[in-house]
Amino acid sequence: MAEIKCIGVLTSGGDAPGMNAAIRAVTRSAIYNGFTVKGIMRGYKGLVHNEIVEFKSQSVSNIIQMGGTILKTARCKEFATPEGRKMAYDNMMAAGIDALVVIGGDGSLTGAKIFAAEYDIPIVGLPGTIDNDLGGTDSTIGYDTALNTIMGAVDKLRDTASSHERLFFVEVMGHTAGYLSLNSAIATGSEAAIVPEMDTEVDQLAELINNGFRKSKNSAIVIVAENPKTGGAAGLAERVKKEFPDYDARVTILGHIQRGGSPTAIDRILASRMGAAAIEALSDGQRNVMIGIMNGRIVYVPFAKAIKHDKGIDKSRFELVKMLSI
Ligand code: ATP
Repeated sequence: MAEIKCIGVLTSGGDAPGMNAAIRAVTRSAIYNGFTVKGIMRGYKGLVHNEIVEFKSQSVSNIIQMGGTILKTARCKEFATPEGRKMAYDNMMAAGIDALVVIGGDGSLTGAKIFAAEYDIPIVGLPGTIDNDLGGTDSTIGYDTALNTIMGAVDKLRDTASSHERLFFVEVMGHTAGYLSLNSAIATGSEAAIVPEMDTEVDQLAELINNGFRKSKNSAIVIVAENPKTGGAAGLAERVKKEFPDYDARVTILGHIQRGGSPTAIDRILASRMGAAAIEALSDGQRNVMIGIMNGRIVYVPFAKAIKHDKGIDKSRFELVKMLSI
């Protein structure tokens, strides 16, 4: 295996809070361990179009607390073609980059897997997505911050929901994974969580909401994961409203505020540990793995397992939502 001297780092796909903390950790631990570092702008787009910059320790000063990504991020269709990846490889070689750290979600890691296999390049991935939809890690970078953002927003909605005795359907991100929906429902004491992994009968939901209104409560909040197929919160609200013509039902879509903001301590620490682990992995000759943390320990997750995302959703948590909202 050729010796690694220079490591390129990029962020790709949807931005997530903590990506900057990860870029900082990758850059500084690489420099600390004697590597040089290059920052690749706008994800794979920067590789294809040769937007590559020299990174020094100072390049990542004062960013650990910042949301977004200083490297910018993008979706790049060209990289999904062999011609695009050839351009990316040629630019990478011309810049003297021997290995890559890719920070992104399942699409970005799919691209990394294909690129690494095609050109025999060492690549290590970091799970950067608010959705927590990657296998082999308890949490992804950005998930905890997004959860806290949702919690803050739903707490505010609860004030108005209870003052006006309203029923709120709150739409959160996560069209393929219900972690944000389910866990924010627990954290906010919501009446129900709707997730893509499980079908929810409108009858069941109506009963829960009805119980909530009939008993001690004078408001109800249902957290709904976005879902283009069912119309998300708006689609569900339409169906449920028929059961409750007397209640004042509203829909709130939290949208992109869920991606923004300063990362929580948990995400900063996660990103810092994972960033350093990526450099250690490359130094140890690891390739084509994502860094995960399971039960507090760093693990190397083959790309195929990370992308497959088979960690499932803990069904007992639905019972918890139900039990605690009587
Ligand atoms: P998020 O989970 O936040 O959506 P993501 O990493 O899954 O992030 P995608 O838009 O799915 O975001 O993927 C990001 C980029 O990864 C794509 O724009 C493309 O450049 C690359 N990519 C995705 N799938 C492939 C593929 N099959 N082959 C090559 N490149 C790919």
